[in-house]
Amino acid sequence: MSASLTESVETVTVVGGGTMGHGIAQTFAMSGYDVTIIDIDEDVLQTALEKIEGSLEKLTEDPDAVLAQIETTTSEEEAYGDADLVVEAVPENIDLKQDVFGTIDNHAPERTILATNTSTLPITEIASATDRPSKVVGLHFSNPVQLMDIVEVIRGKETANDIFEAAETISEAIGKTPVLVEKDIPGFLINRINLRFWLEAVRQVDQEGRDRKTIDAAIRRIGLPMGPFEVLDFSGIDVATMAAHSMQDRGVDLHIPDLLEKKEEAENYGMKTGEGFYTYPEPGEYSRVEIPQERRNDFDPKHLVAPAVNEAAWMLANDVTTKSEIDKAMQIGINWPRGLLEMADEYGIDRLVETLEELHARSGWDEYEPNPSLRELVANEELGQKTGTGFYEWEYEQAEFETVRYERREYAAWITLNRPDRLNALDKSSWNGLKAALEKAANDDEVRATVLQGAGRAFCAGDDIAEIQSLESTEDAREMFEEVLGPTVQTVRNHPKPIIAAVEGAANGGGCELVLLCDLAVASTNSSFALPEGQIGALPPIGLTYGRMSLGKKEIMEMSLTGDQFTATEAESMGIVNYAVDETQVEDIVRELAHSTTASGPKSISEMKDLWTGMEDDLLETWFDEAMDRLVKRTQSEEAEKGLAAFLEKREADWKR
Ligand code: NAD
Repeated sequence: MSASLTESVETVTVVGGGTMGHGIAQTFAMSGYDVTIIDIDEDVLQTALEKIEGSLEKLTEDPDAVLAQIETTTSEEEAYGDADLVVEAVPENIDLKQDVFGTIDNHAPERTILATNTSTLPITEIASATDRPSKVVGLHFSNPVQLMDIVEVIRGKETANDIFEAAETISEAIGKTPVLVEKDIPGFLINRINLRFWLEAVRQVDQEGRDRKTIDAAIRRIGLPMGPFEVLDFSGIDVATMAAHSMQDRGVDLHIPDLLEKKEEAENYGMKTGEGFYTYPEPGEYSRVEIPQERRNDFDPKHLVAPAVNEAAWMLANDVTTKSEIDKAMQIGINWPRGLLEMADEYGIDRLVETLEELHARSGWDEYEPNPSLRELVANEELGQKTGTGFYEWEYEQAEFETVRYERREYAAWITLNRPDRLNALDKSSWNGLKAALEKAANDDEVRATVLQGAGRAFCAGDDIAEIQSLESTEDAREMFEEVLGPTVQTVRNHPKPIIAAVEGAANGGGCELVLLCDLAVASTNSSFALPEGQIGALPPIGLTYGRMSLGKKEIMEMSLTGDQFTATEAESMGIVNYAVDETQVEDIVRELAHSTTASGPKSISEMKDLWTGMEDDLLETWFDEAMDRLVKRTQSEEAEKGLAAFLEKREADWKR
């Protein structure tokens, strides 16, 4: 039915030749429709044709052929008498729109489909001005229409199925991607989600004293083309404020931060006035804002993503639309790198719910109360990529290797040292388990990056001292270090994929050395790093050898000779970790890093790693063997006997002065 309805649409009338109207007319004409533009103002029609011509010169080979399909008029009879489809784009005023729809209804044949391009008004109210509400539908284009791919197709309360479907197929026929919105809700889909994202960004500056450039940098970091303040300035603070007010007036629970209202009142609308959140060379002249990339990790994007996901969850729970429509809208409509719900599954639904709870507590705004459907996902352990199911299904595999847990989440292997009650101290089971888990990741072609983390409140407290103390002879010690620890160290070094350490809590001794062996590392600011082996009469064999590829002499020696603890921020400046970040972001930044490494070819990566490992071998292999040999002897020395005993008795060794 809708196919034949769509096929029967040949003539299209666009009402209003302004910003949107001329773009809509051009788009239909470019797709072969006969178009009439009606406006009350002759000059507007003339300007519309000029603008269309200018645009066609850039977009088509033969502008005249397209222009020949466009007529203009101020006569209602002429405009509507033979229209198969009418698309209204007059100013955003309900009385005016109802008046226009009444007129169209009087003049247009029974077959005519009536569409409105309203951004904020209820389709149903506009339709009520006609005797054919079942034939009225929302077609919400984005500006500039000829360039923007997306169009929201909105069903009014009375819109008939065939009309809704025809609106969808006509949108496709003019080369747009339709997003289906099944209920006539304030803000429709895109504005609702965008506003949650933007308004929280403004609240963060207004109430939390955050810096707007830092927020923009963090949002660019996660792949959006612009940060929220850049977008607000670009598309107009007045437009966003107007949309927010209209949603609020229609009963949507949302707050508009004072800062936004003040900008609006001062007419600092952004680029078009030359001043908004940023300053522009002159009104209407865009220049890209300089966003300090180095601050990109200083704000947690989940603070903006979580309210947007909450809004999406509300829509899904109320049958407004589907997951794929939401993701399509964000990806195609506003150029997000992935869909919103795909992102939600990456972050983990549980962590987004926690973020919402935090925002709720901090702002006192009930709109941040997590939607019950999100809580239900958490209760069902449908947390996203890390459990294999969330909004979507994901590639997921789990295995245990002794005390080491292996998970494949999509293209990344997450390996967890899992002795949380022993602060993940490295015993035989950890070394063997780690080796097996790394081998599994290495052998799986789907795995493109490997993450190493610790369960519980430490990354890894180092070697299991009780186990070392229990080694009774040099032979036992040699077996442990050379046959268990040594091969695992080589497995880490020879791993063909990027290994990223995710450090939360202490990384001591062998734990710190593991971080040094990894290719990349991210640590929470409350992490600490130390090489305290000397304090038990032993020595750090990896730190002293391979460690020098990351650290200089003074750093290695200070760490090894004193055993002192260093903060994550110090570790960042020393080169032990790439980034020291807030603990809420470690997992995210590790995942983003893992994702970034997939930009390089898998074979290139294994070659790069091979070269690095070879270079280390040339410089250090014999010294690592030497260090292991000395470690074996050290652990069986009288000094170590005293040192290990003192450690286990939680006192200082007797050589401490
Ligand atoms: P505009 O002011 O640029 O153009 C409106 C045109 O309608 C004017 O040329 C005006 O002369 C004409 N008009 C007024 N009364 C008329 C009548 N009775 N019959 C025929 N023409 C009449 O407005 P715009 O920005 O193009 O917005 C039009 C609609 O599109 C609004 O509903 C708006 O909310 C929506 N919209 C705008 C944007 C945007 O970015 N501008 C984006 C999406 C949707």
